Amino acid sequence: MKVKVIRGSNQIGGSIIEVASESTRVILDVGSELGENAPQTPAVEGLFNGTPSFDAVLISHYHGDHLGLLDSVLPEIPVFMGKKAYAVYEKQLEYAGKPLRDDIRTFEPRESFAIGDIQITPYLCDHSAFDSYMYLLQEGDEKVLYTGDFRSNGRKNFKYLLSLLPEVDKLIVEGTTLSGKHASARTEADLEYEAVQLIKRIGDAPVFVNMASTNIDRIVTFFRTAKRTGRVLLEDTYTASLTAAISGNIPNPKFPEVKVFLARPTERDYDILQHFSSSKIGRRGISKERFVMMVRPSMLGYLEKLSAEMDFNGGLLIYSLWGGYKEDERTKAFLTRMEELGLSIVDLHVSGHADTQTIEALIAVVKPKEIIPVHTENAEWFERFKADE
Ligand SMILES: [Zn+2]
Ligand SMILES: [Zn+2]
Repeated sequence: MKVKVIRGSNQIGGSIIEVASESTRVILDVGSELGENAPQTPAVEGLFNGTPSFDAVLISHYHGDHLGLLDSVLPEIPVFMGKKAYAVYEKQLEYAGKPLRDDIRTFEPRESFAIGDIQITPYLCDHSAFDSYMYLLQEGDEKVLYTGDFRSNGRKNFKYLLSLLPEVDKLIVEGTTLSGKHASARTEADLEYEAVQLIKRIGDAPVFVNMASTNIDRIVTFFRTAKRTGRVLLEDTYTASLTAAISGNIPNPKFPEVKVFLARPTERDYDILQHFSSSKIGRRGISKERFVMMVRPSMLGYLEKLSAEMDFNGGLLIYSLWGGYKEDERTKAFLTRMEELGLSIVDLHVSGHADTQTIEALIAVVKPKEIIPVHTENAEWFERFKADE
């Protein structure tokens, strides 16, 4: 099989990769570039325009830099993604009022399927998006593994994943963290421990967390943190609709320790709130609770009103996102105002991407004859794995 990185070999995000046998052509991810407001669709003949010439698009996970161009894929080309990832993606689009391709095909972990003469096996991996996959592509004896975005510092057992993976001919691997300092990544469990210690010190004062609603693992981390410090977790209507779509053991409005609040009085948010009427909570109710509350800059108006009903002094605003987003004007204004209202801003975040030890461990197991780096600004780092000849 031939591998061609159409976009993303020397940048983080915007990945589009082609894997082709003699008779079958498959696309791995159709990402938009990070920081793009209006995604530019590159001219890829047979994928976004012209006569369809690809047999499938496989999406590794629901981050925009991997599926942002899904809308532009020719409707004749089948699209595949994980079942639970699709549930989250569907809610995201529904909330944003955007149309959704209604013919997306879903699969369960390790359920193999054939695209032409290529056999596909998805392997569930850990990342800051829920239900993320690595893909093994096999034609005859030849194997190609695509990692998507992955990490070993979440709550899934990385050694178990490694035990499932075969040796491969080609490895298409992400290298997001390779441009920075090569420290080993702290884990979600470390983050939970640190959050518990911080919150224990502030008594009953309020705790707010600025994080991504689609980072389901992080919601688990703060739910556990809330429980360990005798607090309820407050989810806004959007987050509640995402967690309810996954449900199961993911903290959602059915949990007695989760309450739902309405920060924006739109018709859609009212509808969602009605749906969760037994767990809804208003500002008066919140002011009497000990809580960990999920917030975003767009909720500033609501939080101003809440601060009129309760004292924010001595409380925390935990910033749990990539530090780079702090440059965003709206985020800056939000953090400044929250500080004025009496909160201390604390950074608590761990990476969603593999550190060097994790990448090395993967390579040691799958023993690729060829490595194709993607999603990185430091592809040279991988040259150390080239056999001396
Ligand atoms: Zn990515
Ligand atoms: Zn990602």
